[in-house]
Amino acid sequence: MNHEASRSLYDRALSVMPGGVNSSVRAAPQPYPIFVDHGDGGHVVDADGNRYIDWIQGLGPLLLGHDMPEKLQAAIQSRAAEGPMYGMPSEIEVEHAEFVCRHVPGVEMIRFVNSGTEATVSACRLARAVTGRDKIVIMQGGYHGAQESTLVEGDADGTEPSSPGVPQAFAENTVPVPFNDPEAAEAAFEKHGEDIAAVLVEPVQANMGIVYPVDGYHGMLRNLCDEHGSLLIFDEVITGFRVGGLGCAQSEFDVDPDLTTFGKIIGGGFPVGAIGGKTEYIEQFTPSGDVFQAGTFSGNPVTMAAGLETLRFCAENDVYEHVNGLGRQLREGLSEIVADYAPEYTVVGSDSFFKLVFTRCDGEPQGESCRNGCRQDPDCDRYGGCPKRGTDIYRAETDRYARLFRPAMREQGILVSQNQFESNFVSYGHTEADVEETLEAYKEAL
Ligand SMILES: *Cc1c(COP(=O)(O)O)cnc(C)c1O
Repeated sequence: MNHEASRSLYDRALSVMPGGVNSSVRAAPQPYPIFVDHGDGGHVVDADGNRYIDWIQGLGPLLLGHDMPEKLQAAIQSRAAEGPMYGMPSEIEVEHAEFVCRHVPGVEMIRFVNSGTEATVSACRLARAVTGRDKIVIMQGGYHGAQESTLVEGDADGTEPSSPGVPQAFAENTVPVPFNDPEAAEAAFEKHGEDIAAVLVEPVQANMGIVYPVDGYHGMLRNLCDEHGSLLIFDEVITGFRVGGLGCAQSEFDVDPDLTTFGKIIGGGFPVGAIGGKTEYIEQFTPSGDVFQAGTFSGNPVTMAAGLETLRFCAENDVYEHVNGLGRQLREGLSEIVADYAPEYTVVGSDSFFKLVFTRCDGEPQGESCRNGCRQDPDCDRYGGCPKRGTDIYRAETDRYARLFRPAMREQGILVSQNQFESNFVSYGHTEADVEETLEAYKEAL
């Protein structure tokens, strides 16, 4: 496979962009990233004309794949033709807000912003404002965007910024706990309860995972928050409109968060974020309240049209059936392959995302496949070996993934997640043939 054009673009990019990219994970592929020319269904074609089955899917937003249904394409084009944005309200914002409020149980009102990061920043500010407290509980191995309050690592004994440039003061107000560990959450509340503004949690850990919650975990967090007057914030930037269909992960787990952050899918492939939740809280944003929140591009009409038409398409077609079905086929097929070729590895995922983690927690070979993804079922014969928290993935063979496995997949025309921590995403553009070809490639590359 020839990558000369990508190589030469990367060479130019290195001179004018730090690391040659605009978001760091894109530079992870070895020895250098491919540059995309265009997408086509579940595939992308690179600058050298090579075609790949694409399981990256924009890192999550492209639930429908690279081809937009006609109505979606028409809506975007007419919006753009009518002038891309106004800095004044327009009807499409109201329609999109109504759609989300109608389908997501915990969302009575919503404020659209421009990225998932912006959404979690505003959600933390809102939670701090309404509680008059400063501390935010987060999960180790979770991800909430490139923001100060959550770029923090540590445990009950101490915290520090996980990036230079984040003031220590933020680390002092962040309380990281292990995911899926009720005792650790209880201990954090025992120690800091009076100061905890919110618990911020991905319903399924998906940026260092994929890790499903153990039964009752989110309900337990809900109770802790209620007992201590703290808010529960579900970060559904990845899970929103992927896990649990149009009701999102909160409907799947039957938990009622106070605030929900969105991004990715709700923008239909355009830059987006949103903070939804209970009216009593969301109304505290300016101008109805006094918690400052604003954005020049927020509610951008092109984005709103893309997001709304994407969700409407999902409501009217067999999107979730299709993507979850293929997700299941991938996980089942991978479980069988792994049993033969790499018994020390673990298949994880649920709904329409999947991953092969290059380790197991218990070191034992993987048993029977989990047909619908890992549900953290204690009766499952794989239970002991599945990751219980995102940080378990640190133990994986990340170099083997990056240097041997991923390039071998790429040579076979398959793009899997750019590092071992990100998820692979199934889209409506993928087919059973894509799944079969991918499984064959795994056999070859493992
Ligand atoms: C991607 C992601 C974010 C950040 O969203 P951006 O649009 O990249 O700023 C926040 N939280 C979760 C759970 C995400 O997956």
